[in-house]
Amino acid sequence: MQITFWLLLVLITLGVASYWRLKLTVTTLLVAAVLAAGTIAGHIGVLSWIVFGALALPLNISNLRKTYMTAPIFRLYKKIMPEMSRTEQEAIDAGTVWWDGDIFSGKPDWEKLHAVPKARLTAEEQAFLDGPVEEACRMADEWEINHTRADLPPQLWQFLKDEKFFAMIIKKEYGGLEFSAYAQSRVLQKLSGAGIVLASTVGVPNSLGPGELLQHYGTQEQKDHFLPRLATGEEIPCFALTSPEAGSDAGAIPDTGVVCKGEWEGKEVLGMKLTFNKRYITLAPVATIVGLAFKMQDPEGLLGSEKELGITCALIPADLEGLDIGRRHFPLNIPFQNGPIRGENLFVPLDFIIGGPKMAGQGWRMLVECLSVGRCITLPSNSAGGSKTTALATGAYARIRRQFKMPVGKMEGVEEMLGRIGGNAYLMDAVTSMTTKGLDIGQKPSVISAICKYHLTEKMRQVVNDSMDVHGGKGIILGPKNYIGRGYQGAPIAITVEGANILTRNMMIFGQGAMRCHPYVLKELYAAQNTDSAEALKEFDKALFGHIGFAISNFLRSLWFSLTGAKLAGSPFKDETRRYYQGMERLSSNLAFLTDISMGVLGGELKRRERVSARLGDILSYVYMGSAVLKRYEDEGRQKADLPLVHWAMQDSLYRAQVAMEELLDNFPAPAIGKILKLIVMPFGKNFGRPADKLDHQIANILQTPCESRDRLGQGQYLSREESNPFGRLEQALDDVLASEPLYDKVCKAANERFPFVQLDKIADKGLELGVLTEQEADLLRRTEIQRLDTINVDDFDTEELMADKSLLQKDKKKSAKAA
Ligand SMILES: Cc1cc2nc3c(=O)[nH]c(=O)nc-3n(C[C@H](O)[C@H](O)[C@H](O)COP(=O)(O)OP(=O)(O)OC[C@H]3O[C@@H](n4cnc5c(N)ncnc54)[C@H](O)[C@@H]3O)c2cc1C
Repeated sequence: MQITFWLLLVLITLGVASYWRLKLTVTTLLVAAVLAAGTIAGHIGVLSWIVFGALALPLNISNLRKTYMTAPIFRLYKKIMPEMSRTEQEAIDAGTVWWDGDIFSGKPDWEKLHAVPKARLTAEEQAFLDGPVEEACRMADEWEINHTRADLPPQLWQFLKDEKFFAMIIKKEYGGLEFSAYAQSRVLQKLSGAGIVLASTVGVPNSLGPGELLQHYGTQEQKDHFLPRLATGEEIPCFALTSPEAGSDAGAIPDTGVVCKGEWEGKEVLGMKLTFNKRYITLAPVATIVGLAFKMQDPEGLLGSEKELGITCALIPADLEGLDIGRRHFPLNIPFQNGPIRGENLFVPLDFIIGGPKMAGQGWRMLVECLSVGRCITLPSNSAGGSKTTALATGAYARIRRQFKMPVGKMEGVEEMLGRIGGNAYLMDAVTSMTTKGLDIGQKPSVISAICKYHLTEKMRQVVNDSMDVHGGKGIILGPKNYIGRGYQGAPIAITVEGANILTRNMMIFGQGAMRCHPYVLKELYAAQNTDSAEALKEFDKALFGHIGFAISNFLRSLWFSLTGAKLAGSPFKDETRRYYQGMERLSSNLAFLTDISMGVLGGELKRRERVSARLGDILSYVYMGSAVLKRYEDEGRQKADLPLVHWAMQDSLYRAQVAMEELLDNFPAPAIGKILKLIVMPFGKNFGRPADKLDHQIANILQTPCESRDRLGQGQYLSREESNPFGRLEQALDDVLASEPLYDKVCKAANERFPFVQLDKIADKGLELGVLTEQEADLLRRTEIQRLDTINVDDFDTEELMADKSLLQKDKKKSAKAA
């Protein structure tokens, strides 16, 4: 009986030490102390000490441990570990590990997160947003751009060049704006609220492309030549990677550059003959320089012994003789400049390689390194900005549009949509702010960039879908009065580009995350690649035993959090957000625990089990996005009025993470193990619920009523109340409708009749007739009627106006005249 007590005490000591992740030596000393106390009490005898010694000594004496434990495991590990391809290796090596590493640790350090300074704009960046960005939005007539002209008007192109919109990432020494990542994000958010063509046109040169590649890898000569020209818009860049046969699998491009001698500007030089067929290239039809990715080959050994040098990036002039460029694709009715580029045996000197000949074969590394930054900014910001503007517009529309004698936004079914729109918009802004701040403090978070790209574009699609539903026919009928339909049409573009979403979710987020962010996996892998066998064994031993302790700790933490509902987990705040911090700590432990088990069970096969990878990636992603929400709430001064948005975003994130975990375990490739794991991580079923209806109701009110929370939700967007801005007109209409309602009530009461809330000009006359309205109040009602009709009306056209080829009409007429 007494021995059982002491054994239990030993187990509890081990559990506590493991929970707090104490060092092996400290843990051993603690267990020894418990045994010593038992010996003094007369209950622990020699046998217990022998067992303790037999286990503790080999574990704590490193030479013994390495020889008898680590070495055989290391041999086996090297045998079963799958080879990593060069492109996989380069993808894993690219970028840094940041908050994603904390989430993978199973024990995120919340203090560290909150210590990251709040993202802020400099005075110069703010002035750019208030000046040129506002003006660009004003100049962007969506209908003209999308329908009439199928391009930005020339004066807007010129304005963008003059104001250096294409040079936000270019350093000041080359004449660029050198904005912070946060500022770039804010600019793109605002532009995307005004139009997708505008935001994409500005976004692409500032994202992965010649500018970014030149700044990182260009020779001094290339930088001095191209960067000032890119900054002023004298050169317009595009970047061509995708080929008809290689989309997602971009590493498989068949395009080639064969090293050879040739003539360039009258001299014989060493160069390469480029043969390529590229498609979907944004800005290609108007580009003056083309960043081209191809596989470099040196069959004659002119550069050395290597014949296949690998993916290489070069910069070629668009007017290069024989270059087939200028035709356009037509991407889903969102006519930003995009088209194919082709060339056959085009000779260019080796100096055209970005970074010069020494960078031959380094193209893939260059691309993935730049992608780890670019993917955090352009598409997530465009998605967040579009969603913020859509949230406000949908709230205003739902409040103005009435059916069944009430605003449609007051109906519970519509509130569900509004809740989701508002909650997602709050979260998306939080994610872009936190992530771009991360970039500004020097991170290059490749895993986080994949999370942002996938989830924010998916959330944008959800927001636009919901908004379309709320708008009904108003969203469907295209024309100058429709401010939402193009967003709906264009949503799949963001889903597809820069790593299509299915691939990003299923392969990239967890696929790279597990390797990069796990505290031990990469160390084990690198140890296995080390050719110095003694050093390799030492490294592997350290990583292996760290890993074992880590896995035990995550198992115990997961179990403990399951049994206690994580109620005792740490939280930096004791207010309404406490349970969210605790929930995320629990999910983080679960993620770390399930990652180890999945890797242990599936080994190299995990790479091919995409749905396991996707669901583990979802847990990571939702905890990341939840962290951003809590950080935003803190950074903005814990605004109580925003709590419905915070609650919605947190509850939705935790719930979705839990659904991912349950689906993972219900479909686990080893079903029995899946069942056991489920008993450990969710023994009492689901812990987190969907956001409550009450929250949808509260958010719907925020979106439909001017207030500080609503202003914060739409902060930085183009909402100026100008005739040319449909979103500004909506804001004005909302204010005026709300101000008109008490006047309308007054007239109804005086007339003793409940009029429908239409023809407010007639209500105004009635109010004057009954003497219950002043002239000023009547004017407000009349103005509101004009705005109300502007809000709910749609466009109509003559057939001729809609026909792309108007000559057909004449031909048809002639034909029918002939037939008659
Ligand atoms: C409007 C537009 C602009 C673009 N701009 C540029 C540009 O400027 N420069 C440039 O080089 N490229 C550009 N692209 C190309 C873009 O990056 C590719 O379209 C994208 O990489 C996907 O390739 P794909 O369209 O050939 O789809 P595919 O590769 O054929 O993929 C089809 C589907 O299969 C999925 N899939 C593929 N492999 C996997 C996998 N292993 N696991 C799970 N799912 C998978 C994908 O997610 C996708 O859903 C642009 C594309 C578009 C449409």
